[in-house]
Amino acid sequence: MKTNRINSRHVPIYRDAAFDLRDADTTESAFDADSRDPLHIHDFIYTRYRNPTVMAVEEQLAELEGSAWAFLTQSGMAAIDTALSVFQEAGRQRPWLFFSEIYGGTYTFINEVLVRRRGLDIHWFTGAKDHYDLQQLRRLLDELHPSLLYFEAVSNPMLTVADGREVIRLAREAGSAVIIDNTFATPYLWKPLDDGADLVVHSATKYLSGHGNLLAGVICGNDTALAGEVNVYRKLTGHMLAPEEAARLGDQMLTFSVRMERHCHNALQVAQLLEKHPAVEKVYYPGLEKHPTHAEAVSLFGDKGFGGMVTFDMAGSNEAEKTENLDRFVKKVSEAITLMPTLGNTETTLLPVEAIWGEKYPGPGLIRMSVGIEETEELLEVLRKALG
Ligand code: PLP
Repeated sequence: MKTNRINSRHVPIYRDAAFDLRDADTTESAFDADSRDPLHIHDFIYTRYRNPTVMAVEEQLAELEGSAWAFLTQSGMAAIDTALSVFQEAGRQRPWLFFSEIYGGTYTFINEVLVRRRGLDIHWFTGAKDHYDLQQLRRLLDELHPSLLYFEAVSNPMLTVADGREVIRLAREAGSAVIIDNTFATPYLWKPLDDGADLVVHSATKYLSGHGNLLAGVICGNDTALAGEVNVYRKLTGHMLAPEEAARLGDQMLTFSVRMERHCHNALQVAQLLEKHPAVEKVYYPGLEKHPTHAEAVSLFGDKGFGGMVTFDMAGSNEAEKTENLDRFVKKVSEAITLMPTLGNTETTLLPVEAIWGEKYPGPGLIRMSVGIEETEELLEVLRKALG
């Protein structure tokens, strides 16, 4: 199947910073069309506005996410900034509501940029213990009447899965727009736009590119007016992705669904191994029947799998023993598996949770693992050996 409209197996790289506008008339019509009709390019003008390579990969992404359009940015954070800024005028009139269980960088961005620098009225939905408490969410929506709700379907690092369809339905009923960061679930598992979300954002640095060799973000949507807003904001803030990076992302996306299938397969095997191992106290993986949001995960993801992230807690009769066990495991496992503050790579990586997120989560024995696409038995053997 073709993945883009350009008649080439790989997306050609147009390295031009600016394009030949030929004469005064075509110059005027190019500028006019870019601001009036962001979804159809008549003439390219300047790469910070639009670029043919970037657009070809955007078409590839839109096809994957099932969206009318997609816009690439230089990082996931730039995509989040862009998506949120589109709703900022509404945010001056009515508050915004965020799930508190979100990526730490987004959490800090909200506090440092949206609240401290832009003065927006932000509220947090903290209702995730084992499950998201949707009664509490409903009460907050009624009480605050927010103009925007923002969440991630799979929480980080505890992998609590929200009943995404119901959350979108409640938000829309309350008159709120919805943005979803779908980085963890990816369109392989869930396509939130099909269920009524207004915008979907991704850190394409993670599963979409999958090799840990580039930074990128993407915003996907169906509404043409929102596309215009995203286009203008990206153009004026310089959040555009470089064509070389876009081309590489496009190439790496050709294996996206194969990689995802394998991430899901390996992660389930790893979770099942850890669940039975005496050196492990508890495993948090939505694919395990014991996981508190297994039912939500099945309902949202169907039979495709449960993602590539596995979080687990080392055994130990007290905190000191857990710390000791974690240190011993990490030391051994790091001969084969890298400790890295990212996820979604082809190779397995891991992070001790307390070192990154502090003491908010179940204790010093917690590890978040991004399970790669290695040969399954080899990976399981590395873990068995390191667990002792
Ligand atoms: N969203 C999620 C869920 C993430 O995990 C990350 C980064 O780890 C981001 C957004 C930010 O992406 P980037 O690092 O590409 O800016």
